[in-house]
Amino acid sequence: MTVLKGSSMRNEDLKLKVAGLEVEPGQKKKGWLTLGSRPDGTPLGIPLVVINGAKPGPRLALIAGVHGDEYDCCEGLRRFLSDVDPAGLTGAIVATPQANPTAFENFSRHNPVDHLDLNRSFPGNPDGFLTDRVADALTTHIMGEADYLLDMHSGGMTLGLIPFVGFDDTPGETGEKSFKLAQSTGIETLYAAVPFKNVLRLIAAEKGVASILVEIGSEGRMREDLAEQARMTLTGVAHRLGMIPAFENRTLPYTDNHTIVRAAKTGEFLHAPTGGFLLHKVALGQTVAAGDVLGEIVDPFGEQLHEIHAPHGGLIGEMRTVPATRIGDWTYAVLPVAGTVPTGSDLQALRSMA
Ligand SMILES: [Zn+2]
Repeated sequence: MTVLKGSSMRNEDLKLKVAGLEVEPGQKKKGWLTLGSRPDGTPLGIPLVVINGAKPGPRLALIAGVHGDEYDCCEGLRRFLSDVDPAGLTGAIVATPQANPTAFENFSRHNPVDHLDLNRSFPGNPDGFLTDRVADALTTHIMGEADYLLDMHSGGMTLGLIPFVGFDDTPGETGEKSFKLAQSTGIETLYAAVPFKNVLRLIAAEKGVASILVEIGSEGRMREDLAEQARMTLTGVAHRLGMIPAFENRTLPYTDNHTIVRAAKTGEFLHAPTGGFLLHKVALGQTVAAGDVLGEIVDPFGEQLHEIHAPHGGLIGEMRTVPATRIGDWTYAVLPVAGTVPTGSDLQALRSMA
């Protein structure tokens, strides 16, 4: 496995200051990114963890919980942050394990205060709606001066998914680093996604921060094995960046080959043309051919209203696991498989394959 080298040494012999939290080399501190007060006067903030390594090195930004109904990565990130010993850390980690406080307390994808999707609101605005302010705080303080960024998600209340990593498939150094970072997760399926507008990863790429989207877990629950997968994914990434030693008695996630999926357009989700009760004909991770029946939407009497077909071949990366389906809801994401590349390959190998 390639060890990624950090591109900056910003915390050399210096304390790290993040949103008023001052952290000496070799220290780990917790605090809050303060947003202001709720109507009842209690404070509203984003939890913040800063670990300043004893030795200078790259800065790694870690975010989980941009959507308030995705839990596996929040818990996996908390466990990883607890694992890291600042005395043995090279570089620095700036993280939030629960990025969207009001969405979290409402177990909702969207922020219930302004009904906005934080993951379509970056880089944010310090003078805008609450979601704009949360986005601005994450961009300014958590991403900040990072060299690497992991934005960790799950399927939320309505979706099941196979673990995958979205990377920045653009020519140049940032794209190349993003691809290497994606490989360092040890997750098999890597997604050359066409990002939605205003996602954090696009803002990161504009600023030259190598970033990836990590998707682990789903369906509005927290599964112990998936939280552990998220924890070990982070451990593998930090180790391969040269930031932490390997833990004894723990095997880092690794794969010899990566399956590359390449979206033809943003999303790849099929939207339901009508409401009803969704019945599946396929399973998560299954490979399908163009035209295959994926599922059907039936009415309350069981009469078929619509049959959903695969628009192209690929694997079922995500699917709606709540049967109640409304007009326009996401149903299936068929991810077109471009091929496989050996771990350690570069973007050039990817291009010649596609
Ligand atoms: Zn999400």
